[in-house]
Amino acid sequence: ALAGQVRTFDGLGRTADGHRVELLANVGDPADAAPAAAAGAEGVGLFRTEFAFLDRAEAPTLDEQVAAYRQVLAAFPGRKVVVRTLDAGADKPMPFLAGDPETNPALGVRGLRTVARHPGVLEDQLAAIAQAAKAESAQVWVMAPMVSTVDEAEQFVAACARHGLATSGVMVEVPSAALLAGPILAHATFASIGTNDLTQYAMAADRMLGAVAHLSDAWQPAVLQLVAATCAGGAAQGRPVGVCGEAAAVPALAVVLVGLGVSSLSMTPRALPDVAAVLASTTVDECRRLAQLALTSPTAEDARAVVRRGLPVLDELG
Ligand code: PEP
Ligand code: MG
Repeated sequence: ALAGQVRTFDGLGRTADGHRVELLANVGDPADAAPAAAAGAEGVGLFRTEFAFLDRAEAPTLDEQVAAYRQVLAAFPGRKVVVRTLDAGADKPMPFLAGDPETNPALGVRGLRTVARHPGVLEDQLAAIAQAAKAESAQVWVMAPMVSTVDEAEQFVAACARHGLATSGVMVEVPSAALLAGPILAHATFASIGTNDLTQYAMAADRMLGAVAHLSDAWQPAVLQLVAATCAGGAAQGRPVGVCGEAAAVPALAVVLVGLGVSSLSMTPRALPDVAAVLASTTVDECRRLAQLALTSPTAEDARAVVRRGLPVLDELG
């Protein structure tokens, strides 16, 4: 459905001086995987598997899951596809997994916490991912949403290993995980920062609530500090850190994220050409310089303004 609308770009993501940045696609509906490949994505940085589970009275069968996952892997032969395990709860309600009503669902049983209460759901999902991975040639990476402790990361990695899934990581979308990225990445192979939830939890601002939208801004210096902390943890362990939240799709923020040490950016495919263009116009040292300016800005507005001033190419992108 996307194919007609998405502009493509040539070649791989890199800065003007050749520093590589993987530019990947976020995919929800498996039918969007082939158009994402056609749009130039090198791989998938976030496959949101919730799609297979939505509007269901019960979990999809193993075979249904294998078919859905294979469709995404088949669009990226030999490429990296990061499959996120089910992120049920809060903004992604799944009736068949609903527990007791909660006053604050975003702070409740969601993501990895949900499957901890329904272990069979995670086991089936990992079995289906492993089966799909055997049938296709894509490099399959698996990651858990809403990890908030080192223990959770360790247990998830162990569960993946039992299914033969060797490349397993975590989303960093809770501030505790950003602050403990080093110890978490002693277990996990990689981290992918979910800036949508990381912003929500850092700023205590509901991502669904318009009244606090001014706080729900990944330019907030506190959010950027958490990104920097995650990158420091990744560097200490020699593990890659990506971003798969909406911030990765904002060209000026993409520059900041690269400057903070992020090595892959995953986004809606239609954002790929502009992000590729702004990176290609900038050296990695300039990305680092602008990142430091943003990080040390007192407000989100100041951070955005100082970076935009340093990137005149943005005016050409419109
Ligand atoms: C995020 O939180 O930034 C993210 C990518 O996950 P989702 O938007 O699916 O919660
Ligand atoms: Mg999230």
